Amino acid sequence: MTQPERNNPYNFDEFLKWRNGFDFYADDPFLQQVIKYYTGDKWHEIDTEARKLSQKASFRWRDMAETIARPENHPFMRHYDAHNHRIDRIVRPHEIEVMEKEVFSERLFSDKTSSWLRLVKMYLIYQNGEACTSCPLTCTEGLVGLLENYADSFETRQILQHCKEGIAGEVAIGAQYLSEIQGGSDVPANLVEAVQEGDQWKLYGTKFFCSATHADYAVVTAKPAGSDKVAAFVVPSWMPGNKEKEIRNNTTIERIKWKMGTSELPTAEITYNGAVAYPLGPMDKGVAIVAGIVLTASRLTVGLNSAANMARSVREAKKYSEMREAFGLNISRFPMVVGKMRKLEHASKRTTAAAFKVYGEFSKLDGGLQQGLQTDEPVDAALALV
Ligand SMILES: Cc1cc2nc3c(=O)[nH]c(=O)nc-3n(C[C@H](O)[C@H](O)[C@H](O)COP(=O)(O)OP(=O)(O)OC[C@H]3O[C@@H](n4cnc5c(N)ncnc54)[C@H](O)[C@@H]3O)c2cc1C
Repeated sequence: MTQPERNNPYNFDEFLKWRNGFDFYADDPFLQQVIKYYTGDKWHEIDTEARKLSQKASFRWRDMAETIARPENHPFMRHYDAHNHRIDRIVRPHEIEVMEKEVFSERLFSDKTSSWLRLVKMYLIYQNGEACTSCPLTCTEGLVGLLENYADSFETRQILQHCKEGIAGEVAIGAQYLSEIQGGSDVPANLVEAVQEGDQWKLYGTKFFCSATHADYAVVTAKPAGSDKVAAFVVPSWMPGNKEKEIRNNTTIERIKWKMGTSELPTAEITYNGAVAYPLGPMDKGVAIVAGIVLTASRLTVGLNSAANMARSVREAKKYSEMREAFGLNISRFPMVVGKMRKLEHASKRTTAAAFKVYGEFSKLDGGLQQGLQTDEPVDAALALV
């Protein structure tokens, strides 16, 4: 039995000492095994690169991710500057701007990064949760996939270059805005209008759920005036040269939504007031190409992200249970805790293995992800964004 002790000595130091020294890759034999199994003759190179990236993800970026997740550091809007110019600046903590630059400088979507290496690096980065990085990475992957299929003008090729290799040392970030207040996952019910003015397309209307609002470019669905079919566009957040001046591309950000989770990532409501947009692909097949390329890529990566989040959560829960005492025993010795941990660990390992397997199958597809235009399936059948 314990005696009273007014200066409660309980602390987390032992757990933190272990946690702060844990390398997401070097200290995880299961992950190494999975990667070795799937990457075949590329394993040696991937192992070397994973060890390097893990040094950043497991320590420096982990600490930054923790800082930006604190409620007082969540992003907020500054609509006007001190001299009454509408700027719609998304104010984010310094740590995320540094971490984001470092993560995107890995050039995960460059031609020089193999698809396995990209996957492994993403898995390690994703162990830090959303961190205002996971969704933007996923969205950029989708935007790159779309542009690789449909970039056919100087502007769209520049955007592709910006997202893949970077321009002047800056690698661009993508987003995807499809859903609207009235339709949600029913994208064919979109009301945002695209109007051809001279040789430019311009967008008018509101998008209700716009994550990664700080991105440089967004894939946006809209209907050309007079048509009931949805087209896909890429929309720059700022036209060239205007980002530094904080002059947005005829777009206003109404508000950042209050969210219970992933609050470090801005999700906003935005209005297009004649934003310049570049069409991608057939103008009547926007839903099919976005569902086939952008959403499929993001759903694959969401699976990988969940696997990475689970791996870290289970690892830390298990370790903590070995240190936490109740009724004079480590709780890791109670049979129900043992059973629960075993179940969680099993689910986590299965999810990681499955994520690598499914991604591996997709990466073998000839020509990458396709837009699903070849089948007889009605376009409306492919709509579940949920
Ligand atoms: C935090 C957050 C961030 C988001 N970020 C983005 C973003 O960046 N870009 C973007 O475009 N959207 C974004 N969304 C919107 C998200 O994609 C929609 O919430 C989603 O598409 C569902 O739309 P809805 O909420 O209007 O629900 P609804 O479409 O109204 O669906 C409600 C329910 O109806 C059922 N349902 C609807 N359609 C089907 C179907 N085809 N088959 C079976 N059941 C169905 C499901 O039970 C579903 O849960 C975000 C949402 C959230 C919450």
